[in-house]
Amino acid sequence: MSDLKLFNSLTRQLEPFQPVHPGEARVYTCGPTVYNYPHIGNMRAYVFADTLGRVLSYKGYKLTHIINITDVGHLTDDADAGEDKMEKMAAEKAQSIWDIARHYTEAYWADIKALNIRQPTKWSIATDYVPQMIEFAKSIADKHCYELESGLYFDTSTVANYGALARAQTDEGESRIEAVEGKRHAADFAIWRKTPPGEKRQMEWDSPWGKGAPGWHLECSVMSGDLLGFPFDIHTGGIDHREIHHPNEIAQNQAFCHSDHSGARFWMHNNFLVDRTGKMSKSAGEFLRVQLLIDKGFHPLAYRLMCLQAHYRSELEFSWEGLQAAFTRLKRMVMAVEKLKVAAEKAGHVDVNRQNAIGIENTLFDDLNTAHALTMLELCLSGNQPSLAPQRLADLKDFDDLLGLNLLALSRTDLRIRPKAALITEEEIEAALAARKEARANKDFARSDAIRDDLIAKGVEVMDGDPLGWDWRIEV
Ligand code: AMP
Ligand code: ZN
Repeated sequence: MSDLKLFNSLTRQLEPFQPVHPGEARVYTCGPTVYNYPHIGNMRAYVFADTLGRVLSYKGYKLTHIINITDVGHLTDDADAGEDKMEKMAAEKAQSIWDIARHYTEAYWADIKALNIRQPTKWSIATDYVPQMIEFAKSIADKHCYELESGLYFDTSTVANYGALARAQTDEGESRIEAVEGKRHAADFAIWRKTPPGEKRQMEWDSPWGKGAPGWHLECSVMSGDLLGFPFDIHTGGIDHREIHHPNEIAQNQAFCHSDHSGARFWMHNNFLVDRTGKMSKSAGEFLRVQLLIDKGFHPLAYRLMCLQAHYRSELEFSWEGLQAAFTRLKRMVMAVEKLKVAAEKAGHVDVNRQNAIGIENTLFDDLNTAHALTMLELCLSGNQPSLAPQRLADLKDFDDLLGLNLLALSRTDLRIRPKAALITEEEIEAALAARKEARANKDFARSDAIRDDLIAKGVEVMDGDPLGWDWRIEV
């Protein structure tokens, strides 16, 4: 097999992947803060991490993948200003934090499933690790931290090259770090936040620094180190984390390990999904969630395909037209696979070789070039030599393992999702179309037109002779 090359944000270079433990790959992915539904931009981060995991598994590594669930500690501002996101939402909804966390964790897991993202080895829940966080903080407190009234702060000047991952500390980056009175350096951050005197938080723990809650950066250092051991192979997250969250994790890891190494060999970041409509903001009423796409009649894997069409390090712009185009592409693939299965069956048993595997590797082992892999996949589907059908079907299995589009299992019917706002069911549409066919056969065109008009009034577009074989579509 060829080498796997990955872009390391630490060096800003492509590097060959060499595992820390021979034959293994240990990956940690920063998970969601479960104070609200994830938007589809958040889910791009997990499609990326999933693709990475699939490629590592395909290459034969025993994969240990951890994704955390942040249910405490993440403030409304990535620096130390603002409120705890979980506390704030719980207060707004007048619910317990635990109920909020459970509800949104389940919603997140539903999106994970809908996007065919593989289950990680473990979901690590931040509140399960608070004693370990306190131990970690205790072990670095003397040399690297100082106490203020509001909490225990990490002194970023005590480690070598603080912030190297972020490279340029932009003006914007600096100004986002609000001054907490008494902080020695603007970039210093809380690793333990004390509950202010006279207040009671829903989530608080005793610690040597008083009652309070852990800082968000501390969580990821502790869970990744505990579950994967320092150093581990790859730490992933969205590109925003390259600026504050990950530099702070790295600083803590350096302090904890008494070393310059960052805790992980590779730090990898996906770029953002951006949208001009402003609907990705969670504060907007109908914001862009996977469920909204489904409600509008899109299959969620069309969104996965949309993500895979772009390189993970490029910004990707969301538009409904773009999603529609990805959905059509997915439909074409599913139809081609249906044909391929029939052809392979007809060809009977043929020995298959793994020649094409090299081509697949060349795309994905090149820093996960999914866009190129999709072109190869379509090439594989477009062949029409009957004797090669079993070979192509075997290649398709590799593509499915690597890209997670589930093409071998999907059927056309699965892709036909009725928009939530639709006024008519699939069965009613099929019955109306059968009646229309009969009317036409009887040359009763008045009736056939009336049926069609009725369908149009209910938002159904009748697509006679559609080259993709879709007889109808509900307009959204
Ligand atoms: P959060 O729940 O805010 O911690 O975010 C979860 C993950 O989504 C993190 O890895 C973020 O970096 C990532 N993320 C946030 N917004 C976007 C976006 N618009 N596009 C891609 N990834 C994002
Ligand atoms: Zn994290």
